[in-house]
Parts: sequence; structure tokens; C-alpha cells
Amino acid sequence: MLEVSGASGGYGPIQILHGLSLRVDKAELVALVGSNGAGKTTLLRSISGLQPLTSGDIRLDGEPIRHMPAHLRVVRGLAHVPEGRQVFGPLSVEDNLRLGAYLDRSGAVARKRDRVFDLFPALAEKRHAAAGGLSGGQQQMLAIGRALMSSPRVLMLDEPSMGLAPNLVDTILDIVGQLTRDGMAILLVEQNAVAALRIATRGYVIETGRITQADTAKALLGDERLRAAYLGE
Ligand code: ATP
Repeated sequence: MLEVSGASGGYGPIQILHGLSLRVDKAELVALVGSNGAGKTTLLRSISGLQPLTSGDIRLDGEPIRHMPAHLRVVRGLAHVPEGRQVFGPLSVEDNLRLGAYLDRSGAVARKRDRVFDLFPALAEKRHAAAGGLSGGQQQMLAIGRALMSSPRVLMLDEPSMGLAPNLVDTILDIVGQLTRDGMAILLVEQNAVAALRIATRGYVIETGRITQADTAKALLGDERLRAAYLGE
């Protein structure tokens, strides 16, 4: 569904990504694990079109999208929940969700919103509240919910558990797992590598902008060297 091959790029003259390749198939949850500064956020931003690559290829269902503007990638079915839950603080929960569907001409916005409320009942209770007043966990749910409003087939999540209490991390990762079972392809960047690999199908390890390991999540979880280096053990 999502295929990245030979992706290189960075910030002006500073090269961060060095020929990275990965793929995520339908109904697959793929974890991208690596230490701070390895290039995970840079890769997600490049895939969603917030930042250009200098070389390489990105395909969505076989269609090349590397040179496509970010909003058209959303229309094609790619959604990105950026690091740090960037919700629109002064706007209500409902209005934040509506913004996630601003490209939708199908008239199905209310149905999609109700589906988000089914997934995250805590948001339904706060539907008229300003997003800025929500707890960190609720803001993360809203950021994910907003991305779901574009009906993505591929969803990329950048550190959704950052700064959350353990029970909320479980809630959010459970829902991510559920979305995969419903058929979505998910690329999950997580500092909480063990939790991510436990729910993932496969995983990639990224080190200084290069993929250094690619395997099933089970094999990565069992890898002693990896556990010592990245899994905090
Ligand atoms: P983290 O978990 O800390 O977010 P990461 O793996 O997501 O790490 P990136 O945020 O992609 O890593 O950062 C990769 C490298 O790019 C780092 O060395 C970082 O300092 C550098 N970097 C990030 N943003 C910029 C920027 N706007 N300009 C220049 N360098 C940047």
C-alpha cells in the first residue's frame, strides 16, 4: 500500500535520510524504532509531503506521490498525525474533527465524526469543549480522530504515546491495533518501542537515517542486541 524506496533528504544542505526503504501493506501495523534524532520524524514528514526528498520514490497503491502536494496525498488516502498533538486549541472538539474532513465532498462528515466518537467515547463527552482545555491523552485522541476524518487507507502516527500515563498509552495503542484489524495500513513511530512492537506485525530499526534492521515484530522483540540498544533493557 505504502512503499518508500531509496529515500534521501534532510534540511537544506544537511542530509538526514540516506536511501531509506520500507513498505506497509494493507491491514499491517509496522513499527519504526530508533533513537532520538535517527530521522523518524523527518521520514514521516517527507512521506506526507511536508518536506521534499532529494531522491527516492514514494508510492501509494503503486502510484508515485513524491512530487504531489501534501493535501493531494491526503485525498489519495494518506494521513499523518504529527508529533506533539497539534490540535487547534481555541476550536471545539467537533470543529477540530470537521477540519480533518475539509477536503470531503461526500456529505459523510457526520457519519465519520460519529465513528470517531465510537472509537473515543471520551471525545464524545467533550464534543463542545475547546480542544486546548482537554487532557494530554484526549488531545492525542483528537489528533488521531482528526486524521481519521479523511478516511485514510494509510495512517502514520508520530509518537502517539509521548507524555501519556501508561493506561492511556494502552488505550491508544489498543485503538491503533483495532484500526489495523479493520484493514488500515499503519506506520507507527514510537519511543515506547516494546509497546509498539507488541502490537505490530513488522518493524524497522532506523539509525542515523538508514534502515539497519527489518524483521517481524516478534523477531525484533527477541533480538538481544536490539533490546539492549533500543528497548530500554
Ligand atoms: P526524535 O525522537 O527526537 O523526534 P527522530 O528520529 O524523529 O527523533 P528527527 O526529528 O527526524 O529524528 O531528526 C533527525 C535529525 O534532523 C536530528 O539530527 C535533528 O537535529 C535534525 N533536524 C530536525 N529538524 C531539523 C530542522 N528543521 N533543521 C535542521 N535539522 C533538523
